[in-house]
Amino acid sequence: MNATQPTWSTDAERWTALTERDAQADGVFFYAVRTTGVFCRPSCASRPPRRENVEFFVTADEARAAGYRDCKRCQPGGLPRELDIVNRACAALDADPQQRLTLAQLSEAVHVSPFHLQRLFKRVTGVSPREYQAAQRGAALRDALQRGTDVTRATVDAGFSSPSRMYDNAPAELGMKPSAYRRKGEGLTVRYASASTSLGFVLIAATDKGICKIAFGDEVAGLVDDLRGEFANAELIDDPLELAPFVRQIDAYLHGTRQHFDLPLDIAATAFKLRVWDALRRIPYGETRSYSDIAETVGSPRAVRAVASACATNPLALAIPCHRVVQKGGALAGYRWGLPRKAALLDTEARHTGAAATAPAETNDLDHVA
Ligand SMILES: [Zn+2]
Repeated sequence: MNATQPTWSTDAERWTALTERDAQADGVFFYAVRTTGVFCRPSCASRPPRRENVEFFVTADEARAAGYRDCKRCQPGGLPRELDIVNRACAALDADPQQRLTLAQLSEAVHVSPFHLQRLFKRVTGVSPREYQAAQRGAALRDALQRGTDVTRATVDAGFSSPSRMYDNAPAELGMKPSAYRRKGEGLTVRYASASTSLGFVLIAATDKGICKIAFGDEVAGLVDDLRGEFANAELIDDPLELAPFVRQIDAYLHGTRQHFDLPLDIAATAFKLRVWDALRRIPYGETRSYSDIAETVGSPRAVRAVASACATNPLALAIPCHRVVQKGGALAGYRWGLPRKAALLDTEARHTGAAATAPAETNDLDHVA
């Protein structure tokens, strides 16, 4: 490590980096120019501003909060070069989790100075490369244990007392096989119902083992079409009576008089997605977490994108509360069923937090059954 390497922690160092267009400083700070209202990376090729017009920021968000726009030329908020560096470093570490790379070896592999790499890596992933490697060895072990469970069936029924005779006849053995999902529900009977709610129409569908879909939409026909697509080979039965108890739970939830669901769930996904969905179910009513919080919870701190994708493919609105995942700064980010619904749900929860409406939190695990 080079002891004379600047840390860009003072404005004097930052100004020097700016005038030298030092790409090593990219991602460590941004500079904004008062006369143009634009902010840039240190390495931006734009004409250097006058010192008295420059303001420094540590994050792009802070620069935007101060009223500056992203520079079109260096795109400080675009696909950041620093993420690319960290991604390449992760790829090098992932290539062989059993091999212990030193920081020097890693920095050589990604062509960035050890100092810069260490700092960037920690900023993006929250851990040092060494800690990351240790976590990956743990993850590799877990993956090995789970090998062969490419598609995993999860059921959440602990403590569930059936509100419907539909479940009284369910065989003791877990019913739906992963293969049934791959074959679009072949051999299954899927009952469904739709209802009008304060957030538009909701569609609920269930196998004889549990709820397999909860979705919101602006029209019933589109929701049913989606269901037919997903379970193209299943026998679909419109059965409002059978699903009425679940509709009532959702309605109570939307009115803030219920905070937890008693729903048996019947869903299938990769082991990773199930871990994410399980983590989402542990976010308390009225609270939120960031995507990176969840990534850390599931033991894959760099898998923020994969967490976002697991949220985006969540089959069960509300029951798996992906609406409680927001961006680090509190921005809502996306929602599978539309941002206005996400905002409304968070608002409902915020207004009813503290007024415990129902029983204490469920702590059911998503049981992974190969
Ligand atoms: Zn620029």
